[in-house]
Amino acid sequence: MTLHYKPFAPLVARIREDGKCLEGGILKVDSFINHQIDPTLLQSMSIEFVRRFANKEINKILTIEASGIAPAIMVGFLLNVPVVFAKKKKPSTMDNMLVTEVFSFTKNKSYTVCCSKDFLGAGDKVLFIDDFLANGNAAKGIIDLVNQAGATLAGMGFIVEKSFQHGGDYLRDQGYQVESLAIIDSLDNCTITLRSNQR
Ligand code: 5GP
Repeated sequence: MTLHYKPFAPLVARIREDGKCLEGGILKVDSFINHQIDPTLLQSMSIEFVRRFANKEINKILTIEASGIAPAIMVGFLLNVPVVFAKKKKPSTMDNMLVTEVFSFTKNKSYTVCCSKDFLGAGDKVLFIDDFLANGNAAKGIIDLVNQAGATLAGMGFIVEKSFQHGGDYLRDQGYQVESLAIIDSLDNCTITLRSNQR
């Protein structure tokens, strides 16, 4: 499938300026996304997500705790729809849950992800928002939860996609609208190679 990709320039500039490369193909963006958050950049990225999914009917934003919550809230605020974050541990106070397993690439272990049926159900038209798309395991978990709920996945928006881990290929081949604001083609030799345009 042809990927129509347009990098979001303010994010690309910020990754060039402040992104750090860790061993094992991990990009560290702690100074503006994952630990300290730049709300102005977050706002502009969220406006861009809204623009890119303007063709879709959306009544709910879904993410996974914790790092997806900030961008998801901003998109939900702009669209005036509720934001649900799937939890990584089943709370003892909750039954009536949808449950799935997700393998974490950064932590190298599987964890349970769950969401109350009260907040995700048939008829929901869901936009999934997350910080990173790598192998696509979190996204696959979300697809599973959405399917279990009988809801519809309208699309998936990621701040950063690492194309060399191929989650994006899988999701686009499945027919999902996947929008990434920056695509990184390689982190080899700890050099951040950002994709510049459509190819
Ligand atoms: P995936 O499930 O697509 O393999 O990985 C996505 C999840 O792993 C994201 O939710 C993100 O939290 C984490 N992740 C994957 N790659 C990176 C990375 O290079 N940097 C950071 N900070 N998180 C990552």
